[in-house]
Amino acid sequence: DDSEHFYKVIPNDHIGYRYEIADRPLLGQGTFGQVIKAYDMKERQFVALKLVRNEKDYLKQSREELRILHVLKKYDIDGTFNIVTVKEFFMFRNHMVMSFELLGVNLYQALKLNLFRGLPMPKVRAVARAILKSLELLFKLRIVHCDVKPENILFRKNGDYSSVKLVDFGSSCYEQSQIYRYIQSRYYRAPEVILGFRYGPAIDMWSLGCVLGELAKGTPIFTGEDEFDQLAAIEEALGPVPSNMASRIKHRPPLRKDRGPPGSKPLKTILTGDDVFKDVLKMMLELHPDVRPTPMELQDHQWFSISLSALDRKQASQMTASSNTSYTRK
Ligand code: ADP
Ligand code: MG
Repeated sequence: DDSEHFYKVIPNDHIGYRYEIADRPLLGQGTFGQVIKAYDMKERQFVALKLVRNEKDYLKQSREELRILHVLKKYDIDGTFNIVTVKEFFMFRNHMVMSFELLGVNLYQALKLNLFRGLPMPKVRAVARAILKSLELLFKLRIVHCDVKPENILFRKNGDYSSVKLVDFGSSCYEQSQIYRYIQSRYYRAPEVILGFRYGPAIDMWSLGCVLGELAKGTPIFTGEDEFDQLAAIEEALGPVPSNMASRIKHRPPLRKDRGPPGSKPLKTILTGDDVFKDVLKMMLELHPDVRPTPMELQDHQWFSISLSALDRKQASQMTASSNTSYTRK
């Protein structure tokens, strides 16, 4: 039992002089600890506090998370790259505490609320636009997120798909200093990670492809029951991995009984959405990481220039209006 390593959260209790825990505080829970809602009495606003387990390895990992969050914060000053903003951090009763801007629900919760039905294309495109901006910054800084999935993409304002942010840099690393072999949640794990190759920012592109497919379909597109079966699920849809990657496959256990051979269940047949979208997805899900487009390249794809919805247009004009006012104020 490791509950002794978690901070004991009591509603309305205080964390230091600055934070008051909310009435119904729990926003998220994982192996690392908890994320709770609290009122920041200094800045007079609600925030999200990440309370890390009070153990050495978790503390060490949270320091790396903070280091990366602060680099990203330096580059994402005006929020163009849609990365969660860290506010401050401190130790409290042996727990690392990080405060973040308070965001809304995550995309997994949103899909669940939608009864796991697929979302319309404009919403999928809105998420793609936002998170590709995040991946663009990460790519330029050679930072790999390593855990892009619906749980780690949050609404700024619930329900507004054009305004989502990437959170959870708890598994992230610089491309040149890879620490872990077992990274990414299985359904979103890139083939090069499954096969134990060196990895880079292209693994986040793969995961985002899986996320967009899932948003369109309503449920995950590749649902392996273990790591072998995950590769089998990928190959079933996309064909066999290229021979220069397949040489790493040490042994192939027999296929599970409801799993077809490579290429037997093409991506087209498991997906909903328009053909242009399917083309985008095919690019994001290139089996070889070197062939996958960079975030900058992908953003030039025609799928992103498809006419903005009325809602998008309204928001775009509001954004232009507000940036104009900030210019005239100078
Ligand atoms: P973990 O490493 O356990 O996945 P996360 O940083 O992803 O930790 O946080 C876990 C969950 O807490 C997220 O999936 C999200 O639902 C919620 N959460 C995290 N950060 C925030 C935030 N800034 N605002 C609101 N909810 C958050
Ligand atoms: Mg997470």
